[in-house]
Amino acid sequence: MAVPKKKRSKSRTRTKKANWTVELPNLRACPSCGIKTVSHRACPECGQYKGRQVLQIKTKTPKTED
Ligand SMILES: [Zn+2]
Repeated sequence: MAVPKKKRSKSRTRTKKANWTVELPNLRACPSCGIKTVSHRACPECGQYKGRQVLQIKTKTPKTED
């Protein structure tokens, strides 16, 4: 198992943690519905990719059993 050669100082650890940020995924607008989606993935809203229907989207029907 790989073992660190030197102890990592508190300063170095805290410096790294201070500059740690979450990288946002590359979002682009869907050409058919306009919602922001992850690029190179089928749109979760309309199920289209490159102008073709690739996913079957279930339409949400509100339950009226009350
Ligand atoms: Zn879409």
